[in-house]
Amino acid sequence: MHTLITPLSGWGRYPVQTCELERPERYADLRSDVARLIARGQGRSYGDAALNENGRVLLTERVNRLLEFDMQKGILRAEAGMTLAEILEVIVPRGWFLPVTPGTRFVSLGGCVAADVHGKNHHHDGSFGDHVLGIELILADGSHVMCTPAEKPELFWATVGGMGLTGIIGEVKLKLIPIFSDYVQVRHHVADNLEQLFRLMQDSAFDDRYTVAWIDSMARGAQLGRGIAMCGHHATEEEFRPGFRNPGKPKRSRSIPFNFPALMLNPMSISAFNALYYRRAGGKREPFLSGYAPYFYPLDAIGNWNRMYGKRGFVQYQCVIPEAAAFEGIKRLLQELSDSRRPSFLAVLKRFGAQGKGLLSFPMAGYTLALDMPIRDEGLFTLLNKLDEVVLQYGGRVYLAKDARLSAESFRAMYPRYDEWLKIKNSVDPQNRFSSSLSRRLGVGQIGIGGTRE
Ligand SMILES: Cc1cc2nc3c(=O)[nH]c(=O)nc-3n(C[C@H](O)[C@H](O)[C@H](O)COP(=O)(O)OP(=O)(O)OC[C@H]3O[C@@H](n4cnc5c(N)ncnc54)[C@H](O)[C@@H]3O)c2cc1C
Repeated sequence: MHTLITPLSGWGRYPVQTCELERPERYADLRSDVARLIARGQGRSYGDAALNENGRVLLTERVNRLLEFDMQKGILRAEAGMTLAEILEVIVPRGWFLPVTPGTRFVSLGGCVAADVHGKNHHHDGSFGDHVLGIELILADGSHVMCTPAEKPELFWATVGGMGLTGIIGEVKLKLIPIFSDYVQVRHHVADNLEQLFRLMQDSAFDDRYTVAWIDSMARGAQLGRGIAMCGHHATEEEFRPGFRNPGKPKRSRSIPFNFPALMLNPMSISAFNALYYRRAGGKREPFLSGYAPYFYPLDAIGNWNRMYGKRGFVQYQCVIPEAAAFEGIKRLLQELSDSRRPSFLAVLKRFGAQGKGLLSFPMAGYTLALDMPIRDEGLFTLLNKLDEVVLQYGGRVYLAKDARLSAESFRAMYPRYDEWLKIKNSVDPQNRFSSSLSRRLGVGQIGIGGTRE
């Protein structure tokens, strides 16, 4: 099969590594003699999860066929390269929606299972893997196995959240949720500081199926953590009132055509943007109907927005802090950020429900904070190491799908079920054939760093 050797990166455009790409049309074309291999969907993980420096990366974008859609039961089966955007086009007009969706629809089904992605509804509906009825997995020896939560459950839950390291996910069978219309009923609630924001998010009177809060990461002092909670649910028949007129076709998406000069995103410009956003979004006091795309996928409207961070790229730092310590922990993180004077263009807070069954899955009951930070110099990595210490101190963890720099030691401390997971990985991949830049950085499967091989 034709292969291409090229520099490659994740969505954060850091790090950039030379990888050997292979793009099969079908899984039958796969070669079984490749020593070091990792699958890649749409490359929307931010760091090095879908990279393999000097190794093979298997692009799944052409293995994206819809195999079956039961419109009565809302059950869909598709090849893992199919994107959520492609799925939504089929299911939404027929009255169904994804049970869990990340903040972009330009991701593959395989990527959603491998990272066990979460949405704005984790506190109600869990993560992606909770709605997967089964997967077909292609193992290191080339065999194909079906895994479901009942059949080969250990392998199923090692693959859900397993970052592609147990094998290649060939197919996914997913249970969808019914919707009345493609609109979401949204309500914004303004909080003047972090304490108010937490109170809002913990109060069932304000809660909704989907809840996410935007935080003004540049606010300091008494305003530290001020933000807007954006709560919503799929509009019901009553809310989708007869007089309501579709506001028209979605605007054409715009694209960032070149790398922004790094200086354009500086503390002053980000402060000004945040203050404006706080006033504008906070001014919407009444509930309103929004198309599903602007609510779930606001950034998808700007193509290549990752270029905004300049040539050196950026890191998204996403962590979760357990419920009991969440307010204190998140406050400490925002304080560190504010003291560092390093700007974060985006800061988002979400609530997580109970921890799922995926052995390496990220969510745990608590609150998750995501920060987008441009790479200007090495000082950023010093700050992020400091944030890791705070996260560890409060019993939390960092999200591997966003990560580009966590240490092997911190990874082991943050993911206590790693040993259990490694036993399952070793049983199906004794040669550690499925390996990525992320897994080697974290010492996964290596003696003495990430864990002993048996
Ligand atoms: C704007 C934006 C918003 C986001 N919002 C969220 C969010 O709200 N919640 C959230 O959880 N995540 C979020 N993410 C992260 C994203 O959902 C995950 O990184 C997801 O895994 C990306 O899917 P992908 O197809 O691009 O996978 P890739 O980035 O290509 O790969 C990610 C991982 O999945 C593995 N993988 C991919 N396909 C397969 C396969 N067929 N078999 C085995 N392994 C495979 C790869 O090896 C890699 O480890 C966001 C990302 C962006 C850019």
